[in-house]
Amino acid sequence: MEYGILTKCLYGNGKKLQCDKSGALSFPIYQSATFAHYGVGEGTGYDYSRMQNPTRQQLEHVISSLEQGSDAFAFSSGMAAISAVMELFHPGDHIITDKDLYGGSRRLFHNINEKNGIEFSHIDFQTEMLEDFILEHTKAILIETPSNPMMGVIDIYKTAEIAKKYGILLIVDNTFLSPYFQNPLSLGADIVVHSGTKFLGGHNDTLAGFAVTNSDEIAQKLRFILKTTGAGLAPFDSWLILRGIKTLGLRMEKSMQNAIGIVEWLQKEKKVSKVYYPGLKDNLGYEVCKKQSRGFGSMITFEVNTKETALSILNKVSLIHFAESLGGVETLITYPITQTHADLSQRDLESNGITDKILRLSVGIEDIKDLICELEFIFK
Ligand SMILES: *Cc1c(COP(=O)(O)O)cnc(C)c1O
Repeated sequence: MEYGILTKCLYGNGKKLQCDKSGALSFPIYQSATFAHYGVGEGTGYDYSRMQNPTRQQLEHVISSLEQGSDAFAFSSGMAAISAVMELFHPGDHIITDKDLYGGSRRLFHNINEKNGIEFSHIDFQTEMLEDFILEHTKAILIETPSNPMMGVIDIYKTAEIAKKYGILLIVDNTFLSPYFQNPLSLGADIVVHSGTKFLGGHNDTLAGFAVTNSDEIAQKLRFILKTTGAGLAPFDSWLILRGIKTLGLRMEKSMQNAIGIVEWLQKEKKVSKVYYPGLKDNLGYEVCKKQSRGFGSMITFEVNTKETALSILNKVSLIHFAESLGGVETLITYPITQTHADLSQRDLESNGITDKILRLSVGIEDIKDLICELEFIFK
């Protein structure tokens, strides 16, 4: 029998690590850099925390069971996880990504990976044909769905079919919906990455990242990269994320419910010219999101009438915080053009539709009446 997803948030698939005999319900923090051997050839399975640490392993176990993978690897941030995945590739390899991506990922690709000989093509998955861009040396496709910040939805199953046909890897950044709402591996993806800083941690207090796979070959390579490059998540941070995940389901449900309330309010507001939310029936990605996900999440992007309105909103917020990041219990408002996507060229910003009138909300778990009250105030 396999546990349901809410139970998995507490225990993973139930296969507990047998290293603690105290009965502690909260998994212990093994704050140790090294582990002693009982004698020659009598190890405990633990040598050195860069390679393995029990608290990190318990977290990896919970993540891999939530994502329906066979192995998960916990890193010190989402970017550390994506950097490690990029180490799977070699000079001359070509990777296709959606043009709407987390700004930090694009910075990594163009400033670090390109220097090491990896080529990238950014295409518009909403209007262009993926197959037209696959080259002899294409090795992977990397997407986010919904994408950051324009909330574009990409059909994971169809993309995976194409990737399989050409023998290339499909990597999905699943940060925006979390494993509670979407499981790309079960739709054919080869690797799922996460910024664990966001919904998984959920409390805006810890950085973390994950790479999850159901391929033994990829897992073996990632394990080697993790132990060699050394960006594994620290024991205390692993414990914080484990604790955050216990309420993942409750937080995802409540924040989505709040997001739906906010979307309804925004649609009636005169100063809002467009709302991007995959749960809206007239949103381009609605049908696909409904098919491949169990929920629409709590990220909303919207366009206001003028730049002045956008700036006035950012200056007025008090219950909502003007801050980068997302996925925590507190509602945050972000200005992508100067924050998350500040490093994009003017041309890329324009072609993605990221203007000075675009704002992004990460909806938290406050009382909806307080959030609506705040909206009424900031739009005045
Ligand atoms: C935040 C984020 C990242 C980067 O994660 P960090 O934990 O900040 O390093 C990657 N992808 C997406 C979609 C994100 O939102």
